Amino acid sequence: MESTNGGIFSEGALKPYGNIEISPASAVLNYGQGLFEGMKAYRREDGGIQLFRPEENALRMQMGAERLLMAAPSVEQFISAVKQTVLANKRWVPPCGKGSLYVRPLLFGSGAVMGINPAPESTFLIFTCPLGNFYKGGSAPLNLVIEETLPRAYPGGTGGVKNISNYSPVFSVVKEAKAKGFGDVLFLDAVDHKYVEEVSSCNIFVIKGNVISTPETDGTILPGITRKSIIQIARDLGYQAEERKVPVEDVLDADEVFCSGTAVGISPVGSVTYHHKRVEFKTGEGTVSQKIFDTLRGILAEAQDKSHFPIMAP
Ligand code: PMP
Repeated sequence: MESTNGGIFSEGALKPYGNIEISPASAVLNYGQGLFEGMKAYRREDGGIQLFRPEENALRMQMGAERLLMAAPSVEQFISAVKQTVLANKRWVPPCGKGSLYVRPLLFGSGAVMGINPAPESTFLIFTCPLGNFYKGGSAPLNLVIEETLPRAYPGGTGGVKNISNYSPVFSVVKEAKAKGFGDVLFLDAVDHKYVEEVSSCNIFVIKGNVISTPETDGTILPGITRKSIIQIARDLGYQAEERKVPVEDVLDADEVFCSGTAVGISPVGSVTYHHKRVEFKTGEGTVSQKIFDTLRGILAEAQDKSHFPIMAP
Protein backbone atom coordinates (compact mmCIF):
# COMPACT_ATOMS: atom_id res chain seq x y z
CA MET A 1 0.00 0.00 0.00
CA GLU A 2 1.51 3.39 -0.99
CA SER A 3 0.74 6.86 0.30
CA THR A 4 0.61 9.77 -2.08
CA ASN A 5 2.03 13.18 -1.40
CA GLY A 6 -1.17 14.13 0.44
CA GLY A 7 -0.73 11.22 2.89
CA ILE A 8 -3.67 9.16 1.60
CA PHE A 9 -3.02 5.45 1.22
CA SER A 10 -4.20 3.74 -1.93
CA GLU A 11 -5.66 0.23 -1.75
CA GLY A 12 -2.86 -2.34 -1.79
CA ALA A 13 -2.61 -5.77 -3.37
CA LEU A 14 -1.51 -9.22 -2.24
CA LYS A 15 1.73 -10.42 -3.78
CA PRO A 16 3.80 -13.59 -3.34
CA TYR A 17 6.64 -13.11 -0.86
CA GLY A 18 9.71 -11.74 -2.63
CA ASN A 19 12.10 -8.83 -2.94
CA ILE A 20 10.79 -5.30 -3.33
CA GLU A 21 12.21 -2.41 -5.30
CA ILE A 22 13.21 0.73 -3.47
CA SER A 23 14.99 3.93 -4.45
CA PRO A 24 18.60 4.15 -3.24
CA ALA A 25 17.69 7.72 -2.20
CA SER A 26 14.72 6.60 -0.08
CA ALA A 27 14.41 8.12 3.40
CA VAL A 28 14.28 4.69 5.03
CA LEU A 29 17.61 3.57 3.57
CA ASN A 30 19.38 6.86 4.20
CA TYR A 31 17.82 8.15 7.41
CA GLY A 32 16.07 5.15 9.01
CA GLN A 33 12.59 6.63 8.59
CA GLY A 34 10.71 3.43 9.28
CA LEU A 35 8.51 1.61 11.76
CA PHE A 36 7.47 -1.96 12.28
CA GLU A 37 4.89 -3.86 14.24
CA GLY A 38 4.77 -7.44 15.47
CA MET A 39 1.53 -9.37 15.77
CA LYS A 40 0.44 -12.98 15.97
CA ALA A 41 -2.48 -14.79 14.36
CA TYR A 42 -3.68 -17.71 16.48
CA ARG A 43 -5.72 -20.77 15.67
CA ARG A 44 -8.45 -21.24 18.23
CA GLU A 45 -9.50 -24.56 19.71
CA ASP A 46 -12.51 -24.57 17.38
CA GLY A 47 -10.27 -24.10 14.30
CA GLY A 48 -11.03 -20.41 13.70
CA ILE A 49 -8.23 -17.88 13.34
CA GLN A 50 -7.98 -14.65 15.30
CA LEU A 51 -5.72 -11.75 16.09
CA PHE A 52 -5.17 -10.20 19.49
CA ARG A 53 -6.12 -6.49 19.65
CA PRO A 54 -4.87 -5.46 16.18
CA GLU A 55 -6.25 -1.95 16.65
CA GLU A 56 -3.59 -1.41 19.33
CA ASN A 57 -0.85 -2.15 16.77
CA ALA A 58 -2.51 0.17 14.27
CA LEU A 59 -2.65 2.98 16.83
CA ARG A 60 0.95 2.42 17.93
CA MET A 61 2.05 2.62 14.30
CA GLN A 62 0.12 5.89 13.90
CA MET A 63 1.84 7.26 17.01
CA GLY A 64 5.24 6.31 15.59
CA ALA A 65 4.37 7.78 12.19
CA GLU A 66 3.52 11.09 13.81
CA ARG A 67 6.92 11.06 15.56
CA LEU A 68 8.77 10.31 12.29
CA LEU A 69 6.65 12.64 10.12
CA MET A 70 5.15 9.90 7.97
CA ALA A 71 1.64 9.26 6.77
CA ALA A 72 0.14 6.13 8.35
CA PRO A 73 -2.73 3.92 7.22
CA SER A 74 -6.00 4.36 9.08
CA VAL A 75 -6.90 1.77 11.73
CA GLU A 76 -9.44 0.28 9.28
CA GLN A 77 -6.89 0.09 6.44
CA PHE A 78 -4.31 -1.45 8.77
CA ILE A 79 -6.67 -4.14 10.07
CA SER A 80 -8.12 -4.91 6.65
CA ALA A 81 -4.61 -5.36 5.17
CA VAL A 82 -3.56 -7.59 8.07
CA LYS A 83 -6.73 -9.62 7.70
CA GLN A 84 -6.21 -10.16 3.97
CA THR A 85 -2.56 -11.14 4.51
CA VAL A 86 -3.37 -13.63 7.27
CA LEU A 87 -6.18 -15.16 5.22
CA ALA A 88 -3.85 -15.57 2.24
CA ASN A 89 -1.41 -17.39 4.56
CA LYS A 90 -3.93 -19.32 6.62
CA ARG A 91 -2.37 -22.70 5.86
CA TRP A 92 0.70 -21.55 7.81
CA VAL A 93 -1.24 -20.82 11.00
CA PRO A 94 -0.32 -23.76 13.26
CA PRO A 95 -2.90 -25.75 15.25
CA CYS A 96 -4.03 -24.23 18.55
CA GLY A 97 -1.26 -24.38 21.18
CA LYS A 98 1.46 -25.17 18.62
CA GLY A 99 2.61 -21.65 17.85
CA SER A 100 1.25 -18.88 15.69
CA LEU A 101 1.67 -17.00 12.46
CA TYR A 102 3.86 -13.98 13.12
CA VAL A 103 2.65 -10.92 11.22
CA ARG A 104 5.12 -8.13 10.50
CA PRO A 105 3.63 -4.82 9.27
CA LEU A 106 6.21 -2.27 8.05
CA LEU A 107 5.78 1.42 7.32
CA PHE A 108 8.68 3.31 5.80
CA GLY A 109 9.64 6.45 3.95
CA SER A 110 9.99 5.03 0.47
CA GLY A 111 10.12 8.36 -1.30
CA ALA A 112 13.51 9.64 -2.53
CA VAL A 113 14.95 12.59 -0.62
CA MET A 114 18.18 14.50 -0.86
CA GLY A 115 19.08 16.35 2.30
CA ILE A 116 17.88 15.37 5.75
CA ASN A 117 14.17 15.41 5.14
CA PRO A 118 11.22 13.09 5.64
CA ALA A 119 10.05 11.28 2.50
CA PRO A 120 6.98 12.70 0.78
CA GLU A 121 5.65 9.15 0.18
CA SER A 122 5.57 6.14 2.45
CA THR A 123 4.95 2.44 1.88
CA PHE A 124 3.01 0.09 4.11
CA LEU A 125 3.56 -3.62 3.66
CA ILE A 126 3.00 -6.80 5.63
CA PHE A 127 4.73 -10.16 5.56
CA THR A 128 4.25 -13.22 7.73
CA CYS A 129 6.14 -16.23 8.98
CA PRO A 130 5.21 -19.19 11.20
CA LEU A 131 6.64 -18.82 14.69
CA GLY A 132 7.68 -21.28 17.37
CA ASN A 133 9.61 -20.27 20.48
CA PHE A 134 11.34 -16.89 20.32
CA TYR A 135 14.23 -17.69 22.65
CA LYS A 136 16.59 -20.60 21.99
CA GLY A 137 15.85 -22.28 25.33
CA GLY A 138 12.12 -22.48 24.50
CA SER A 139 10.07 -21.83 27.62
CA ALA A 140 13.11 -22.37 29.89
CA PRO A 141 13.68 -19.41 32.24
CA LEU A 142 15.66 -16.59 30.75
CA ASN A 143 18.99 -15.50 32.23
CA LEU A 144 19.37 -11.73 31.83
CA VAL A 145 22.37 -9.50 32.24
CA ILE A 146 22.03 -5.81 33.09
CA GLU A 147 23.86 -3.56 30.63
CA GLU A 148 25.55 -0.92 32.74
CA THR A 149 26.90 1.52 30.18
CA LEU A 150 24.96 1.51 26.89
CA PRO A 151 21.30 2.61 27.21
CA ARG A 152 18.77 1.43 24.64
CA ALA A 153 16.88 4.72 24.48
CA TYR A 154 17.37 8.37 25.41
CA PRO A 155 14.92 11.01 26.72
CA GLY A 156 13.44 12.81 23.72
CA GLY A 157 14.47 9.98 21.37
CA THR A 158 12.33 7.29 19.77
CA GLY A 159 12.39 4.52 22.39
CA GLY A 160 8.64 4.93 22.87
CA VAL A 161 7.80 4.01 19.27
CA LYS A 162 8.72 1.00 17.16
CA ASN A 163 11.32 2.77 15.07
CA ILE A 164 13.40 0.35 12.98
CA SER A 165 16.57 2.15 14.00
CA ASN A 166 16.06 1.52 17.73
CA TYR A 167 17.34 -2.01 17.37
CA SER A 168 20.69 -2.10 15.56
CA PRO A 169 22.54 0.17 18.07
CA VAL A 170 22.24 -2.59 20.70
CA PHE A 171 23.08 -5.56 18.43
CA SER A 172 26.65 -5.53 19.78
CA VAL A 173 25.76 -5.75 23.50
CA VAL A 174 23.09 -8.37 22.90
CA LYS A 175 25.49 -10.44 20.77
CA GLU A 176 28.19 -10.17 23.42
CA ALA A 177 25.77 -11.16 26.20
CA LYS A 178 24.56 -14.18 24.21
CA ALA A 179 28.16 -15.24 23.57
CA LYS A 180 28.63 -15.25 27.36
CA GLY A 181 25.60 -17.53 27.76
CA PHE A 182 22.94 -14.96 28.73
CA GLY A 183 19.54 -15.12 27.09
CA ASP A 184 19.12 -11.35 26.67
CA VAL A 185 20.05 -7.92 28.03
CA LEU A 186 18.15 -5.72 30.47
CA PHE A 187 18.79 -2.03 29.75
CA LEU A 188 18.97 0.85 32.22
CA ASP A 189 17.84 4.47 31.86
CA ALA A 190 20.20 6.87 30.09
CA VAL A 191 20.23 9.55 32.81
CA ASP A 192 20.83 7.91 36.20
CA HIS A 193 21.81 4.42 34.97
CA LYS A 194 19.91 2.97 37.90
CA TYR A 195 16.33 2.36 36.74
CA VAL A 196 15.54 -0.66 34.57
CA GLU A 197 13.77 0.08 31.30
CA GLU A 198 13.26 -2.99 29.13
CA VAL A 199 14.88 -5.98 27.47
CA SER A 200 16.03 -5.76 23.83
CA SER A 201 12.59 -6.64 22.48
CA CYS A 202 10.27 -7.06 25.44
CA ASN A 203 8.99 -5.32 28.56
CA ILE A 204 9.92 -6.37 32.08
CA PHE A 205 7.84 -7.05 35.19
CA VAL A 206 8.99 -7.62 38.78
CA ILE A 207 6.88 -9.27 41.47
CA LYS A 208 7.28 -8.73 45.20
CA GLY A 209 4.56 -10.18 47.38
CA ASN A 210 1.22 -9.00 46.06
CA VAL A 211 2.69 -6.15 43.97
CA ILE A 212 3.51 -6.49 40.27
CA SER A 213 5.56 -3.57 38.94
CA THR A 214 6.70 -2.57 35.49
CA PRO A 215 8.68 0.52 34.40
CA GLU A 216 6.45 3.45 33.48
CA THR A 217 6.43 4.41 29.80
CA ASP A 218 7.83 7.92 29.65
CA GLY A 219 8.99 7.98 26.03
CA THR A 220 12.01 5.71 26.41
CA ILE A 221 10.12 2.43 26.81
CA LEU A 222 7.92 0.80 24.20
CA PRO A 223 4.31 0.68 25.43
CA GLY A 224 3.89 -3.05 24.82
CA ILE A 225 0.49 -4.40 23.95
CA THR A 226 1.18 -7.55 25.98
CA ARG A 227 2.35 -5.31 28.85
CA LYS A 228 -0.98 -3.47 28.84
CA SER A 229 -2.93 -6.76 28.91
CA ILE A 230 -0.80 -8.10 31.75
CA ILE A 231 -1.45 -5.02 33.89
CA GLN A 232 -5.17 -5.62 33.39
CA ILE A 233 -4.92 -9.38 34.03
CA ALA A 234 -2.88 -8.76 37.21
CA ARG A 235 -5.54 -6.36 38.53
CA ASP A 236 -8.35 -8.75 37.58
CA LEU A 237 -6.56 -11.52 39.50
CA GLY A 238 -6.44 -9.27 42.59
CA TYR A 239 -2.79 -8.18 42.47
CA GLN A 240 -1.64 -4.59 42.83
CA ALA A 241 -0.17 -3.58 39.45
CA GLU A 242 2.09 -0.53 39.38
CA GLU A 243 3.66 1.44 36.54
CA ARG A 244 6.59 3.28 38.10
CA LYS A 245 10.33 3.84 38.00
CA VAL A 246 11.85 0.48 38.94
CA PRO A 247 15.35 0.75 40.45
CA VAL A 248 17.79 -2.12 39.84
CA GLU A 249 17.60 -2.95 43.57
CA ASP A 250 13.89 -3.79 43.21
CA VAL A 251 14.72 -6.29 40.48
CA LEU A 252 17.46 -7.92 42.54
CA ASP A 253 15.11 -8.05 45.53
CA ALA A 254 12.09 -9.43 43.60
CA ASP A 255 10.39 -12.79 44.20
CA GLU A 256 9.81 -13.25 40.48
CA VAL A 257 10.72 -11.48 37.26
CA PHE A 258 9.30 -12.02 33.78
CA CYS A 259 9.42 -10.45 30.33
CA SER A 260 6.49 -9.81 28.03
CA GLY A 261 6.01 -9.24 24.33
CA THR A 262 4.06 -10.47 21.35
CA ALA A 263 6.90 -12.67 20.12
CA VAL A 264 8.10 -13.93 23.53
CA GLY A 265 4.66 -14.09 25.17
CA ILE A 266 5.45 -14.26 28.89
CA SER A 267 8.99 -15.44 29.47
CA PRO A 268 9.98 -16.25 33.07
CA VAL A 269 13.35 -14.85 34.16
CA GLY A 270 15.49 -17.34 36.10
CA SER A 271 18.31 -14.97 36.96
CA VAL A 272 19.57 -11.42 36.57
CA THR A 273 23.30 -10.66 36.64
CA TYR A 274 24.46 -7.20 37.73
CA HIS A 275 28.05 -6.19 38.50
CA HIS A 276 29.00 -9.88 37.93
CA LYS A 277 26.61 -10.92 40.72
CA ARG A 278 23.87 -13.38 39.77
CA VAL A 279 20.51 -13.30 41.57
CA GLU A 280 18.01 -16.11 41.00
CA PHE A 281 14.21 -16.02 41.01
CA LYS A 282 11.36 -18.47 41.47
CA THR A 283 9.91 -19.83 38.21
CA GLY A 284 7.46 -22.53 37.16
CA GLU A 285 4.47 -24.17 38.84
CA GLY A 286 2.81 -22.20 41.61
CA THR A 287 4.36 -18.85 40.71
CA VAL A 288 2.40 -15.66 40.08
CA SER A 289 4.06 -15.39 36.64
CA GLN A 290 2.71 -18.83 35.73
CA LYS A 291 -0.79 -17.80 36.83
CA ILE A 292 -0.64 -14.70 34.63
CA PHE A 293 0.81 -16.72 31.75
CA ASP A 294 -1.99 -19.31 32.03
CA THR A 295 -4.61 -16.54 32.11
CA LEU A 296 -3.15 -14.83 29.04
CA ARG A 297 -2.88 -18.15 27.17
CA GLY A 298 -6.50 -18.88 28.06
CA ILE A 299 -7.58 -15.51 26.63
CA LEU A 300 -5.59 -16.11 23.43
CA ALA A 301 -7.21 -19.50 22.79
CA GLU A 302 -10.67 -18.29 23.78
CA ALA A 303 -13.18 -17.58 21.05
CA GLN A 304 -15.45 -15.22 22.96
CA ASP A 305 -13.07 -12.72 24.50
CA LYS A 306 -13.79 -9.15 23.37
CA SER A 307 -10.08 -8.50 22.79
CA HIS A 308 -10.09 -10.71 19.70
CA PHE A 309 -10.48 -9.81 16.12
CA PRO A 310 -11.83 -12.74 14.13
CA ILE A 311 -10.02 -13.50 10.87
CA MET A 312 -11.66 -16.74 9.89
CA ALA A 313 -14.60 -18.69 11.24
CA PRO A 314 -14.01 -22.34 12.15
N1 PMP B 1 9.81 -3.53 23.95
C1 PMP B 1 10.41 -3.61 22.74
C2 PMP B 1 11.66 -2.84 22.53
C3 PMP B 1 9.86 -4.40 21.72
O1 PMP B 1 10.48 -4.47 20.53
C4 PMP B 1 8.68 -5.13 21.98
C5 PMP B 1 8.08 -6.00 20.91
N2 PMP B 1 7.14 -5.31 20.14
C6 PMP B 1 8.07 -5.01 23.24
C7 PMP B 1 8.67 -4.20 24.21
C8 PMP B 1 6.78 -5.71 23.56
O2 PMP B 1 5.69 -5.11 22.89
P1 PMP B 1 4.40 -5.95 22.47
O3 PMP B 1 3.88 -6.56 23.71
O4 PMP B 1 3.49 -4.97 21.87
O5 PMP B 1 4.87 -6.98 21.50
